[in-house]
Amino acid sequence: MSDLLPYYKEILTKELVKKGVKNFEISSNCDNPNEDVKFIIYSPVIRNGEKLNRDFSPFKNLKAVLSLYAGIEDLIENKTLKCPLIKMIDKNGLTNSMIEWCLAHTLRLHLGLDKHILGQDGIWRHKIKPPIARDRSVGILGLGELGKPVALFLKKIGFKIFGWSRTIKNIEGIKCFFGSNGLTEVLKQSEILILLLPLSKDTRFILNDYNLSLLPKGSQIINAGRGQLIDDIALIKKLRSGHILNATLDVFQQEPLPKEHPYWVLPNVTVTPHIAADTPVESSSKVLARNIKFLLEGKMPNGLVEFKRGY
Ligand code: NAP
Repeated sequence: MSDLLPYYKEILTKELVKKGVKNFEISSNCDNPNEDVKFIIYSPVIRNGEKLNRDFSPFKNLKAVLSLYAGIEDLIENKTLKCPLIKMIDKNGLTNSMIEWCLAHTLRLHLGLDKHILGQDGIWRHKIKPPIARDRSVGILGLGELGKPVALFLKKIGFKIFGWSRTIKNIEGIKCFFGSNGLTEVLKQSEILILLLPLSKDTRFILNDYNLSLLPKGSQIINAGRGQLIDDIALIKKLRSGHILNATLDVFQQEPLPKEHPYWVLPNVTVTPHIAADTPVESSSKVLARNIKFLLEGKMPNGLVEFKRGY
């Protein structure tokens, strides 16, 4: 159930053979479901601007659905999906991409690079001195497969890191918080706030007007999680008032972001087109093959989604 089969077929076949998986066929024919289909590899397929709403119920012997992506909110809500769901955890590909994107934009906002990149106007602004990371607090909402390595890399550069997760965490060098009091604490400290939460009923619009007002005046936001984590109207208000200095947004409530959306024209918003982290074919094929092998052997795959908690 993916448009990406042509890119995957050869490499995934090779990886499955390497893992000793025998007697398999990889196909994109979902129209004639049969009982031989044991695994579905999934990525959202868009037709006429809409995500195809998949029906998993005809696949009677399905052992698992393996998502090519880390965000699985649409699958969690799919009532026809009754088998285990595995999200993509790809430390050698997807995770690295996310680290690089978050690092780049955190440093860009921290150093105020836009002033120089966008302001080539003949003025010698030598009085703007670069700040240093150890004097900057960065908050990270979500300390999972992506948030934790991002936090650790930023820590290595010297930033003061405040992290927030659902369950209590102990990560060396990171001030970790959880629960609603913890969220307040992290927001109050965050001069730069990075969103790496999954979308669930508990995180939808978590950056609402109230929570945005807890951020220090002049703080900057980086959203690499999901568009629905932010109340756009509240954010736009805060960007216009100057309470939020900049928002760098990779994900949106509607994608592609409509041409007429204010985010395209606000001078203190940077839009990137959901490219923070891609799933590379080679590294993710290894992950898929390993998980399929584990599932065939009755072992626990890496990335098993807990439907009840919503991610
Ligand atoms: P993950 O491993 O499941 O981690 C999620 C983190 O969020 C965990 O630390 C979790 O807390 C925390 N969390 C979840 N619900 C929470 C709540 N209600 N309150 C506080 N913390 C909560 O997910 P991931 O693999 O890091 O991915 C995160 C998200 O990034 C994905 O869901 C996807 O939406 C997004 N993403 C975006 C791109 C892109 O290109 N922009 C690419 C890949 C992924 P616990 O640790 O306590 O469980």
